[in-house]
Amino acid sequence: MLKLKGIAASQGISFAKAYVFVEPDLTVKEVKIEDVAAEIKRFEDAIEASKKELTIIKENALASLGADKAAVFEAHLLILDDPEFMGTVKTDIESKVINAEYAFKETSDMFISMFEAMDNEYMKERAADIRDVSKRILAHLLGVDLPNPSLIDEEVIVIAEDLTPSDTAQLNKKYVKGFATNIGGRTSHSAIMARSLEIPAVVGTSSITEDVKNGDILILDGLDGVVLVNPDEATTAEYKEKHAKFEAQKAEWAKLVTEKSVTKDGHEVILAANIGTPADLEGVKNNGGEAVGLYRTEFLYMGREQLPTEDEQFEAYKAVLEGMGDKPVVVRTLDIGGDKELPYLDLPKEMNPFLGFRAIRLCLEEKDLFRTQLRALLRASVYGKLCVMFPMIATVQEFRAAKALFLEEKEKLVAEGVAVSNDIELGIMVEIPSTAVIADIFAKEVDFFSIGTNDLIQYTMAADRMSEKVSYLYQPYNPAILRLVKNVIEASHKEGKWTGMCGEMAGDSLAIPLLLGMGLDEFSMSATSILQARSQIKNLTLDEMKELVEKAVMCATTEEVLALIEEYTK
Ligand code: PEP
Ligand code: MG
Repeated sequence: MLKLKGIAASQGISFAKAYVFVEPDLTVKEVKIEDVAAEIKRFEDAIEASKKELTIIKENALASLGADKAAVFEAHLLILDDPEFMGTVKTDIESKVINAEYAFKETSDMFISMFEAMDNEYMKERAADIRDVSKRILAHLLGVDLPNPSLIDEEVIVIAEDLTPSDTAQLNKKYVKGFATNIGGRTSHSAIMARSLEIPAVVGTSSITEDVKNGDILILDGLDGVVLVNPDEATTAEYKEKHAKFEAQKAEWAKLVTEKSVTKDGHEVILAANIGTPADLEGVKNNGGEAVGLYRTEFLYMGREQLPTEDEQFEAYKAVLEGMGDKPVVVRTLDIGGDKELPYLDLPKEMNPFLGFRAIRLCLEEKDLFRTQLRALLRASVYGKLCVMFPMIATVQEFRAAKALFLEEKEKLVAEGVAVSNDIELGIMVEIPSTAVIADIFAKEVDFFSIGTNDLIQYTMAADRMSEKVSYLYQPYNPAILRLVKNVIEASHKEGKWTGMCGEMAGDSLAIPLLLGMGLDEFSMSATSILQARSQIKNLTLDEMKELVEKAVMCATTEEVLALIEEYTK
């Protein structure tokens, strides 16, 4: 039995076989062959096997992700039927008397370079399709398995170097009982998505792809960040008990689903949910969410081939606003960049993507893209209580520029006779230290703040949120972070505005006592954390938490703050 330690990224315990999601080695060598006919037959068999697989993948994608995503696989199938491409490979096998994999690799490389060299964006994208299909055929010729999460049809725990947000979105909850990765931290987007999908996850194990092989029996403990490989009977029994305890605890919390979030001395706060798609609303309702505090709209733009249209966006925003009824929905405008890429936008490769051309910086330059989103939001605003917030605001001018575009689009829609709400609040994410420091100045211009601690902590501590090596610097209770957060909340209250928090810190049971004491108005977290937080808040007293905060901001270290929290909450 092997015990691997990582970072607990999504609560829960699961038991299943390992499904190792790593790219196999597909390098090929040129080999002279004897039997040309047999080699051509081998190549044709690989094409047939690839077609069968792609047909299943296409059907799965059609059922779970829609026609748009399934179209990619249709394009892949067409490549397999291309007479020029496949004919060239056969001619090469025959004329050069060489092995199929080498002849195939040479031909596909030639087609890829040809498409990549074209001026037309659409044609350039075809190069990526050919690369994908080629991997599949080569895997068949070499007799190695190509991992594909959408082909999984039994219960597994996925093991990977890392999962991109779109890999994570494709995991089928019915079969994928959890995942564990080599890299990533609690606030990397795959971890955040695991929480909204409600599947246990452990990230940042460093070496799990080397330590685990396909079919190993695993226990994944997303409560303590541990993975057990081929556990013995006693350990399995111990974890079954831990699992049952956690399920019983969840059943207790579930009783609070329709209750308000009030401290012992009657101070009420809003417990809201972070969502990525309209489908997440079900979880918000099941977990008693009182608002949507962060709708990450970038997921609408990801895992597809082109930008979503205004109408597509309108439908998604309307669904969320209608679904929440009169409860507030805070929609964040496009926050692409960092660990969230959009291949079809062809953004520059940067040395430090988290510090680069992303979020509002991109939207203020690509104005058409931004205006389309603002129009869709404005049109949807009549279906509920909309709050719009801009991500990664570093300067007052950025907020003013974004607000001006918003007002321009509003005016245009009104002139066109389109109904628009007059009750939309405009706010910003506070996730860059420059903004937290002059929150008093911002507070005069915005309607609300939402503190994005995932980024605020990474920028304040200068510690990449994707790196497990520096994850010790993700210190929500560090006095530096506490002072910034307190400053933002106080500044908003002085101007009669409200402050929410939508970073992961808002749902952290150790941070909640401090945030309550600072007067945070809205706590927005993964839906699955809401009931636990409500149960905790019911046992706390506002006056005591205020006292805790006054002492905590004077501490020197995180450890001292943690000791104080323990003292005030036991
Ligand atoms: C944050 O930075 O805290 C935040 C909520 O935004 P994201 O995690 O999407 O960067
Ligand atoms: Mg952020």
